[in-house]
Amino acid sequence: MSFESLGLSHNIIRSVNKLGYLKPFPIQEQAVPVILQGKDLMGIAETGSGKTACFVMPILEKLQNAEVKKDRNVQVLILVPTRELAIQIDEVFRAFTENLKREIRTMAVYGGVSINPQMKGMFGVEVLIATPGRLLDLIDHNALSISGIQHLVIDEADKMFQLGFGEEMNKLFGLMPVVKQTTLFSATLNDKVSEMKERLSINPTIIEI
Ligand code: AMP
Repeated sequence: MSFESLGLSHNIIRSVNKLGYLKPFPIQEQAVPVILQGKDLMGIAETGSGKTACFVMPILEKLQNAEVKKDRNVQVLILVPTRELAIQIDEVFRAFTENLKREIRTMAVYGGVSINPQMKGMFGVEVLIATPGRLLDLIDHNALSISGIQHLVIDEADKMFQLGFGEEMNKLFGLMPVVKQTTLFSATLNDKVSEMKERLSINPTIIEI
């Protein structure tokens, strides 16, 4: 199977080639068409499976065709448990935004560093990768709004609970629109992750690798 046959256009394929990906990983074969169709998805997959490109490619494929007003309304929110993961995911987004039809700004925000540069840099950001606590702080400072997001991704959902972010995530869910596309990734499927699925009122396609 090729990246083209998953429904990705040449703008994305150019980045795939530049990154040296020869063919899609199994999880990408299964997940990319589902996300492109706008369906909710839950992937049970470990780091190293190629899960990041699973959501980065179809999200940018769709976003590059959308006309978006530049303001403080984020379009796509990726929630992650750690700073390292936020930075890593932003790097993958940047590798794929190079060749798109239009400029798409992405940004990673996390705690442990000064909030001011993050507040200043937020205007015009369409894809935000964030840890829960810092995101709530930024929203409290009116740096951005997540009330109009079209797509929510939660990566390493099980780790979110291990690190005690359950309550912060619930607060964030209350600030998001009910209607949106949701993509969840978790290394394991446990009760907490299932509860979160209920809280989000989704009935996702489940992919297990
Ligand atoms: P991840 O599970 O998203 O952290 O990805 C693990 C590693 O696999 C990263 O270094 C990616 O750059 C790489 N990768 C992702 N998809 C592919 C692919 N289709 N072919 C080769 N390498 C890939």
